[in-house]
Amino acid sequence: MTRTQDAALRARALKVIPNGMYGHESVRLLPDSFPQFFSKAEGAYIWDADGNRYLDYMCAYGPSLLGYRDERVEAAASAQAALGDTLTGPSPLMVELAETLVEMVDHADWAMFCKNGTDATTMAMSSARAQTGKRVVLVAKGAYHGAAPWCTPIPAGTVAEDRAHVRTYAYNDVASLEAAVVEAGDDLAAIFASPFRHDAFIDQEAPDPAYARRARALCDEAGAMLIVDEVRAGFRLARGSSWSELGVQPDLSAWGKCFANGHPISALLGSDRCREGAGSIYATGSFWLSAVPMAAAIETLRIIRESDYLEHMARLGDHLRSGLDVAATKHGFTLRQTGPVQMPQIMFADDPDFRVGYGWAEEMLARGVYMHPWHNMFLCAAVTEADIDMTLAVADEAFAALAARRGALEPHPILVALAAATAG
Ligand code: PMP
Repeated sequence: MTRTQDAALRARALKVIPNGMYGHESVRLLPDSFPQFFSKAEGAYIWDADGNRYLDYMCAYGPSLLGYRDERVEAAASAQAALGDTLTGPSPLMVELAETLVEMVDHADWAMFCKNGTDATTMAMSSARAQTGKRVVLVAKGAYHGAAPWCTPIPAGTVAEDRAHVRTYAYNDVASLEAAVVEAGDDLAAIFASPFRHDAFIDQEAPDPAYARRARALCDEAGAMLIVDEVRAGFRLARGSSWSELGVQPDLSAWGKCFANGHPISALLGSDRCREGAGSIYATGSFWLSAVPMAAAIETLRIIRESDYLEHMARLGDHLRSGLDVAATKHGFTLRQTGPVQMPQIMFADDPDFRVGYGWAEEMLARGVYMHPWHNMFLCAAVTEADIDMTLAVADEAFAALAARRGALEPHPILVALAAATAG
């Protein structure tokens, strides 16, 4: 596999983009062979700037749900594009999309639209504070809710005051949540929760129903808002609210990434309990009301309701998980496969500095399968049985190649630096 175009683009990027790239899509934290730039995508596949094709288990970090360039969604988007996109006000589609989401997500009585997940989580926080007149917001330690000053995991450029009233508790740990609520006293505005624990670098955890129910009860007792951050997991676990099956209804939920199958739109959904607060905050953006992503969202949501996309992803995810276990064991490796099968986290036992995981990701990549060594992955509905069979055949070769160079594996320098910084 050649990557000369990618190397040339990186060199040019270094001159005109700080560090050549920023945020989680920078390959700085990935194995050295991973390409930075991609030229196209179709279904479950992506092509890098050099034309190398990969089966993509990252789905653009979530936005591709039905597969890239899904024909039905693209037809709806193109039809609207022929009429107009970003206008002086919203198109009628805004009302239809709000009605659709209110119909599909049981706790929701209203919807507001924005662009990125961070917009939606930040609006959730502001709405909760406006509704309650209180300040303290509790988030699970290590959970990702976006890149705004109140929640960015890397605080460069922020000041302590940005998160003066943002405090942490341990996900799934009722006692720690209760203690944080007690500490907030009569100043609790909201509790944030992810649908399941999907933090990077660690095993994923399903939500303990007792934790979810306690979070609801504590919010009720304090008059605070329960916020579920569906940005990453929304519509990959259920056709509506991810906590419905636990019998827990949030007051607010933040959505993004996949509900327009890759078109740029996110949403804050809420119940009547927070309607006034949401209506009082000043929230807007030049592109938030664009019509094309709304057309794409309406069509994506129709397919979500009417197709077996979810069962298909779960079935193939199961096949992938069991097949990988067999292949790993055959070559003397033990995998830690956690999270829902359609959002798998795959790491190795006894691999504290990720050297084995990085080596395996490189071996997979070299054989045309793009997997991530420390972030949860995503299946899309365009993946086929044949794709999974191909992945498993490739994995068998990749484990064999890895076993052959196991003794020579080194940890990635950036992870060593990161571990040192954390320890210090
Ligand atoms: N919340 C969660 C759970 C996310 O996974 C993300 C994005 N990875 C965000 C919020 C922020 O979304 P965005 O990057 O679109 O701002």
